[in-house]
Amino acid sequence: MAKGLFITGSDTEVGKTVIAGGLAAILREEGYDVGVMKPATSGAVISGGELVSEDAQFLLKMAKVSDPPDIVSPYLFEKPVSPYHSAKADGVEIDLDKIMGAFAELSKLHDIVIVEGAGGLYAPLTEDKFMGDLARMMSLPALIVSHPYLGCINHTLMTVGAADIMGLETVGIVFNQWRKREFPQPDFDLIEKTGGAAVLGLTPFIESIEEKTVIRVIRENVDVEAVIKGVDYYSPARAVPRQKSYEERDKKYTWHPFTQMKQWQESSVTVIESGDGVTLRDISGNEFLDGHSSYWCNAHGHRNIKVNNAVKRQLNKISHSTFLGLSNVPAIDLAEKLAELTPEGLERTFFSDNGSTAVEVALKMSFQYWRQVEPETKRNRFLAVKNAYHGDTIGAVSVGGIDLYHSTFNEMLFETEFVPAPYCYRCPIGKKHPECALACAELIDTALKKQEGRFAAMIIEPLVQCPAGIITAPQGYLRRAYEICKSHGVLFIADEVAVGFGRTGRMFACDHEDVAPDMMTLSKTITSGTLPFAVTMATGKIFDAFLGEYEEMKTFFHGHTYTANQLGCAAALESIRIMEEEGMVSAVQEKSAELSGMLAKLHDIGNVGDVRLRGLIAGVELVKNRETKEEYPWEDRVGVKTAMEAKARGLIVRPLGNVMALYPAPSASLRQIRKMTDILYASIARVTR
Ligand SMILES: *Cc1c(COP(=O)(O)O)cnc(C)c1O
Repeated sequence: MAKGLFITGSDTEVGKTVIAGGLAAILREEGYDVGVMKPATSGAVISGGELVSEDAQFLLKMAKVSDPPDIVSPYLFEKPVSPYHSAKADGVEIDLDKIMGAFAELSKLHDIVIVEGAGGLYAPLTEDKFMGDLARMMSLPALIVSHPYLGCINHTLMTVGAADIMGLETVGIVFNQWRKREFPQPDFDLIEKTGGAAVLGLTPFIESIEEKTVIRVIRENVDVEAVIKGVDYYSPARAVPRQKSYEERDKKYTWHPFTQMKQWQESSVTVIESGDGVTLRDISGNEFLDGHSSYWCNAHGHRNIKVNNAVKRQLNKISHSTFLGLSNVPAIDLAEKLAELTPEGLERTFFSDNGSTAVEVALKMSFQYWRQVEPETKRNRFLAVKNAYHGDTIGAVSVGGIDLYHSTFNEMLFETEFVPAPYCYRCPIGKKHPECALACAELIDTALKKQEGRFAAMIIEPLVQCPAGIITAPQGYLRRAYEICKSHGVLFIADEVAVGFGRTGRMFACDHEDVAPDMMTLSKTITSGTLPFAVTMATGKIFDAFLGEYEEMKTFFHGHTYTANQLGCAAALESIRIMEEEGMVSAVQEKSAELSGMLAKLHDIGNVGDVRLRGLIAGVELVKNRETKEEYPWEDRVGVKTAMEAKARGLIVRPLGNVMALYPAPSASLRQIRKMTDILYASIARVTR
């Protein structure tokens, strides 16, 4: 990528073409090889029977280059309105990939590319992308051209603010007296102080935009050196030293979860700086498809404008006030919404900030519940499922069934009973589904009978045990487990931290089998990956058991400082609103059917033992021997190697042991999902060959 500068205006008709052309000429005079670009021109004129961009022609003349018009100005429209609307009038849809392709070509041809926007940063290009978004996609810093007339402080500061909001770096502001009219000297100090962007000069009115005059006036009135410095500072050339510096400091100061840091320190580190939709971008500009939706959190794509705006609106009201002794607006709205959305009976929302904590709350709540409804209760045990994962706090690990995590902390944990996982590919009772007649579910009955009256609750990940390796339960298992718990009077806790919010093709996994749990834990997708946030939902019956006189000590003595954080609530509310408005759940069903077809061809690879899919949650189990289902030894690290191979090909996935999990965001397009599965296929084929 070349260096460059994105010239934008505080408004239309402030003379940004003159400034852009003048700067291009000056940079050329300073010895740089300068290219120019006008990505979209509306109000193009007909000359010689063809549409031409007069702005682009001026830029080319000033830079003294003659690049092909289709890359200098890929889109030309006659109607003098926004690019999006003028394109629409011509029945055209602007393709940002085409613009980015043209920009990439110009970047190859020149050291510096000066790109002139159309209108301001919020001039629409497509239905949901603006001129400023294009600047960010090009990784170019912005130079704002403004006017010195009445209203200029307002317009200039709004543009600086828009650049900040859009994630752009601003090199500075040039005020241009584009009309002959007199004006009062603008208060530059105030603009610099409040906007935080440098004022680089004020260019006086010029009668003719003749090359020499333009160059002279800009040289005399604009801090050209600061412009060049800005172009250099924000150029991709800094990517190499930045990568090195961030990598070194990561290795020196951070400690990553579930990571052998010795190994980490010996490998290269990818440092993510930005994202867009299902794409992640690192500080060197490398792009990756987010194959696990940032660990099962992101639903609507990174940098989703609606979620971001909802958080910003809340941010500008208040970020956080305690839920202890006070309530707040978005928390009440969200609690009502969740009561409406979640399965029948779940009425109360207890807020926290991560999945483990939501589980911890559910465990303590059910434990205390029994103490309050049965004073002599012996219900102090929990039933859980082998291979289960419920988080990493002590209570959550205690009910977790992954031995690897258990062994070290065993002495800190409370005792839990486990039933085998409904893992059909490796059936715990040696049968084939459906011949088993869900015998694995009946084991729950056996376990509960064996210690009748001792269990407070059963905790389960409905439909899919995700961290265990995308273990999908056979149809009917969840319902049967629920019925059995009911028949023994044992509380049923549905841990939907991973599967909740549409991932399985219903809003909640429990909805598939008409299960109305006593408690439900939700986190990950709840804010679409915006903020750490979680809830534990409980029925009215549970809640009522905690009501009493002050002296009765029936209060639930548990809470976290950031409980019901307003920003988290606002993000969750907006995310849910989008899910409903855009019909996300039915979109997941449709995409799931397509994904199923795409995954089918993975069976061509000899070492693919099993492919599991529920909604948009997919798992591909790799085996050493397909006939015997012999597992790859753990130390072979085939999962890790496959993930590394996928990353080299532009896809981020994490292995779950020998299972490759694909967990695309529901907003991913079919084309993107296909690309993910293609890369996964190639990576598995390569590593297992
Ligand atoms: C991720 C996860 C948790 C733990 O959530 P954290 O936010 O990581 O603490 C709990 N249960 C399930 C099913 C999960 O997938």
